[in-house]
Amino acid sequence: MEGRTPSNPRELTQNPLKKIWMPYKNGLPETHISQRKVCMTNCPTLIVTVGLPARGKTYISKKLTRYLNWIGVPTREFNVGQYRRKCVKIYKSFEFFRPDNEEGLKIRRQCASAALNDVRQYLAEDRGQVAVFDATNTTRERRETIIKFAEQNGFKVFFVESVCEDPDVIQENIVQVKLGSPDYTNTNTEEAVEDFMMRIKCYENSYETLDEVLDRDLSYIKIMDVGQRYLVNRVLDHIQSRIVYYLMNIHITPRSIYLCRHGESELNARGRIGGDSGLTARGKEFAQKLGQFIQAQGIRDLKVWTSQMKRTIQTAEALGVPYEQWKVLNEIDAGVCEELTYEEIQEHYPLEFALRDQDKYRYRYPKGESYEDLVQRLEPVIMELERQENVLVFCHQAVMRCLLAYFLDKTAGQAFSRTPGSLGGATVEQGSLNREL
Ligand code: ADP
Repeated sequence: MEGRTPSNPRELTQNPLKKIWMPYKNGLPETHISQRKVCMTNCPTLIVTVGLPARGKTYISKKLTRYLNWIGVPTREFNVGQYRRKCVKIYKSFEFFRPDNEEGLKIRRQCASAALNDVRQYLAEDRGQVAVFDATNTTRERRETIIKFAEQNGFKVFFVESVCEDPDVIQENIVQVKLGSPDYTNTNTEEAVEDFMMRIKCYENSYETLDEVLDRDLSYIKIMDVGQRYLVNRVLDHIQSRIVYYLMNIHITPRSIYLCRHGESELNARGRIGGDSGLTARGKEFAQKLGQFIQAQGIRDLKVWTSQMKRTIQTAEALGVPYEQWKVLNEIDAGVCEELTYEEIQEHYPLEFALRDQDKYRYRYPKGESYEDLVQRLEPVIMELERQENVLVFCHQAVMRCLLAYFLDKTAGQAFSRTPGSLGGATVEQGSLNREL
């Protein structure tokens, strides 16, 4: 606050890349404001999973981590099982997890403590906002230790418990995920399933579920029977409520999501970006062929979504099935560059052209949007896609990149730069990467 009074406000300058106004001193922006990532919590959050083995804890941890990173909250998962596999190279049998195996207990405690150390490093020093501590954490004593650790470091704690007693679900989870684990590479299916069931038994006697009375002061969500019911307690802030909302929308039914760009538009054919033109003859032919292809697939209960732009709606029309229009699926708004060719942009806005090259993800078109804006706009689409089963989405190049970044778990840097592993190859038409919106 040094030297500032209401009558002496700091001067503002506009960051040319992001087009955000920020205070500056001595001709330079004040860095503490510009360098901080999206921060939706006052202090970092530690998410702690709770539950017996094969209850979907790792599945939930990975998915949640991917979602939070995508919406701009730096998040990392810490899986204690991986620490254990690093420490004990060869897994022999469930005996390792027996509650009376002193050596096993010691190693497991050491692994948990090594993981918590890394959590501390990530949240306190590496600017992480959320850490997901993925372990069984089935006893109240274990959870107390974690709460103390969090208190000492100034982290908030949010528990995510998965409770499921359906033997078919558990059997299916073991077959789907556990048999492929490095623990069972040299074991036959029957023996592996039997060993894993015994491993679960090792935890059953000491398992203390989160209790409405005993744990009333804790913040948590308890997911029961794969999302049939939930118990939510003491949600403390915005990030926790977003976590709860997300976890209440995901499901595990296998399904397919098809992302498809519209057929070629009039403006595409003239090398102009954006606009709201209709399809060319080639675009219409594409739409018809696509319609035949989709029909031949015989996809069960397929929902079709489009943006509110003429080119996606025309593409969907060719399918002859009902579809739903979403305004939020509209293409990135290129502002003053709408309907220009890249050559014209370079000629009229050379600085803009160069800035965009510097950081494609954060670059905001003058009077338009950035990819970062687009991700925020698309969040409701991702949430609804999580809820749905088979869906075909007709959208646009930049929109598709953002949606793919979520599903392929690509960071902003990976998805929008021109390095190998970027999503450039996933888009169609219109040539080289630097020619994309
Ligand atoms: P854990 O980490 O608890 O040992 P995993 O995450 O490795 O279990 O298990 C993955 C399996 O759990 C996947 O097949 C997934 O379909 C399933 N799954 C996901 N969410 C849940 C849930 N809420 N309850 C039960 N099973 C789930």
